[in-house]
Amino acid sequence: MGAIRRSRVKTKRLSRGIDQIKADLASEKHLSQYQSTKAAEDLPGLGEFYCIECAKWFESEQNLAGHRKGQAHKRRLKELKEEAHSQEVADKVVGLGREARQSEGQGEVGMVEG
Ligand SMILES: [Zn+2]
Repeated sequence: MGAIRRSRVKTKRLSRGIDQIKADLASEKHLSQYQSTKAAEDLPGLGEFYCIECAKWFESEQNLAGHRKGQAHKRRLKELKEEAHSQEVADKVVGLGREARQSEGQGEVGMVEG
């Protein structure tokens, strides 16, 4: 018996970060990579009705259409739009997410002038 079962890190969080969603919107590949981590039979409407901006699945086309007219969706669109307009904010958000990663690579940046 040598079967080692690696316990996978749970990725079942429903809410997807804004920067993730922006990547989804920019690249179909990115989006389908995310979607392929979900089993269609676990998803509402078998994963057919998806709102990219909100990273949410819906039961039916009607539900999705209704959602797209609703407040939550509009707020999300605004969020995405506003972020796109101020690259500074976007950089900050990305920076926050990658802080841990940065610290393992380039550490201190000195004031080197050449
Ligand atoms: Zn939406």
